[in-house]
Amino acid sequence: YRSSAYEPLTESAAVALVTRLGLFEEKSVLSCREIGDGNLNLVFHIVNQNQNGIIIKQALPYAKVIGESWPLTLDRARIESSALLKQAEVASAYVPKIYYTDETLAITAMEDLSHLQIARAGLIEGREFPLLGRHIGEFLGKTLFYNSDFALNPQAKKQLVKQFSNPDLCKITEDFVFTDPFFDYDSNSFEEELRQDAENIWNDSHLKLEVAKLKHKFLTEAETLVHGDLHTGSIFASETETKVIDPEFAYYGPIGFDLGHFFANLLMNAISRDEANQQVLLDHIETAWAVFEEEFSKAWKNDSLEAFAKVDGYLSFILEKAFEDAIGFAGIEIIRRTIGLAHVADLDSIEPYERKIEAKQRALDLGSKLVKNRQSIKTTADLAESFKQVP
Ligand code: ADP
Ligand code: MG
Ligand code: MG
Ligand code: MG
Repeated sequence: YRSSAYEPLTESAAVALVTRLGLFEEKSVLSCREIGDGNLNLVFHIVNQNQNGIIIKQALPYAKVIGESWPLTLDRARIESSALLKQAEVASAYVPKIYYTDETLAITAMEDLSHLQIARAGLIEGREFPLLGRHIGEFLGKTLFYNSDFALNPQAKKQLVKQFSNPDLCKITEDFVFTDPFFDYDSNSFEEELRQDAENIWNDSHLKLEVAKLKHKFLTEAETLVHGDLHTGSIFASETETKVIDPEFAYYGPIGFDLGHFFANLLMNAISRDEANQQVLLDHIETAWAVFEEEFSKAWKNDSLEAFAKVDGYLSFILEKAFEDAIGFAGIEIIRRTIGLAHVADLDSIEPYERKIEAKQRALDLGSKLVKNRQSIKTTADLAESFKQVP
């Protein structure tokens, strides 16, 4: 079965589709609920009488932001399912299984991960997810190495750069992450109490020069296939499992990009917590980087096709660059989640109000320092130190 035209599915159409596709045993009694957040995509959860489920995610042809609606390419469903398949080639434990994809309908049918919790929600409740840092480090070490020029022949790599050309979703990041928060633009959104802090950012020409350099990296450095939106809302977790979802922003970008977003989202959760409960998040960052470095280095040693791979200092140069970029991208992510269009619940849900404003001021201060001082923040210990030094 292949559809001939796009249409948004209804719950009953989703059930009819999985039945036609034979994704459940015959005679299953199916029920379906749409569980997405409703901004960009539909997410259908379909279960049989034994509560075994599957997920159908469908892209909508428009995005709803600030109450308005603008067209957004359905091609992102192709990007998402191809990225999940690519990631599964080298890190299958960390992504949902894919059962079916249809570019016309812009859908991906995938493993139901409802037994796990979205990491952001769990971290806000104070859960620890002991393997989160280790698993994300391994996922990134493998996916970022094996889709780079260090592992692929140059022709194959250029093919992938083309396949993962994602201009519309990159434009969203270019605008809402790298540009708008650093100017007094209407898309920004923050509490009136933060106006002075926002103005300080808009008037900080040193900061803006460094943001411009990092934006230029995002625009031009096609190092590897990055997830592109690796915040803690794109991670399902439990005590034992970790799965990365939602790679619709995937494209060829800098090795440090996903690491930076992951670090930033852990740091924002840390800011929301009492001091006594912050260390676990800094430990996740330390572990994620250590495991990333170990996996990337192991793969480099065993599987690099690059003639220069054994030249002393080359691997260290690449890893040091990735770390410095990650710290810069983390700083930008923290700033844009505080005064830009899209916020994080970790900061927005802080109570009472005065404590929330203080936490956001601290976030802005930390974000600026990470962007500006990224060259002197050489290790995760330095990063933890910077975090602790921001009042
Ligand atoms: P969006 O791109 O719209 O953010 P996501 O892929 O992040 O879509 O999914 C939105 C929500 O749908 C998730 O936060 C989660 O609650 C649910 N969801 C998505 N994929 C799955 C899955 N494989 N299993 C269970 N729930 C899922
Ligand atoms: Mg969402
Ligand atoms: Mg999402
Ligand atoms: Mg998404």
